[in-house]
Amino acid sequence: MRTRLLVVKIGGARGVDLAAICKDIAAIERKGFRLVLVHGGSERTNRLAAQMGHPVRFLHSPSGIMSRYTDLKTRDIYVEAVKALNGEIVHQLGKLGIHALGLTMPDSCILLGERKRAIRDVIDGRVRVVRDDYSGLIVKVRHEFLARVMELGQVPVVPPLAFSHEDGFLNVDGDRVAAAISGALPADMMVLLSNVQGLYRRYPDPASLVQEVPRSQLNLAMAWAQGRMKRKIRSVQEALDLGVAQAVIADGCRPQPLQNALVGGGTWFA
Ligand code: ADP
Repeated sequence: MRTRLLVVKIGGARGVDLAAICKDIAAIERKGFRLVLVHGGSERTNRLAAQMGHPVRFLHSPSGIMSRYTDLKTRDIYVEAVKALNGEIVHQLGKLGIHALGLTMPDSCILLGERKRAIRDVIDGRVRVVRDDYSGLIVKVRHEFLARVMELGQVPVVPPLAFSHEDGFLNVDGDRVAAAISGALPADMMVLLSNVQGLYRRYPDPASLVQEVPRSQLNLAMAWAQGRMKRKIRSVQEALDLGVAQAVIADGCRPQPLQNALVGGGTWFA
């Protein structure tokens, strides 16, 4: 049987247990799975921004999707925070005997991007256009490079950054990074580990966890999702549209989070 290729996104929100995730990744790698790791950095960025006295602000798109307002200073804070987290993941995996490679330099950046030059933001029902934001659109996934890293026996660790020759590093959403990479490789499965057990039909009630969403019902999933969960559902949609067979949103705060996701935990989309 061909080795299964998983793209796993480690959520950046509060509560996600990085040590448990790294331990579980090491166990899965030893079982012979091939892995690409993607991570977020929202919580780290918020903490660093607070330490530096720089306010955190969010933009709200007309379709209800929330994203970080990334002015130049926030971009620099974001890059510093996600690079530190990337290094920590590589270090933790190294201690577990896994050869991980952090891809955080301009020349090792897996994603090429383009700065979004005009973002619509809704405040009190009125739309304004934000032009000084350093968030990016993914224009290219350097998947051959990623495949080469894996051939060398290393586990790539991908930060939520895209590189633009014109504007430098750009903030890209980690869930969308996972979707773009899953589609480009292509992966057999995309796993998004978060600080909830999966998608709840009646958020925040965990008893309303949805076990399975057929792709024909993604619009319902989008209606159940609020705020940041909407971006995850959109990323699931992107991955499935790019030909990835399965996507899972699962609990990143429990022991053995990845193994739990692989045996049917969380919300499965196919
Ligand atoms: P991460 O950083 O782990 O990727 P996000 O904060 O981006 O996580 O998204 C997960 C969050 O989405 C949850 O913490 C929860 O607050 C929110 N959320 C909104 N709607 C739902 C829903 N229907 N089911 C589960 N979580 C939801």
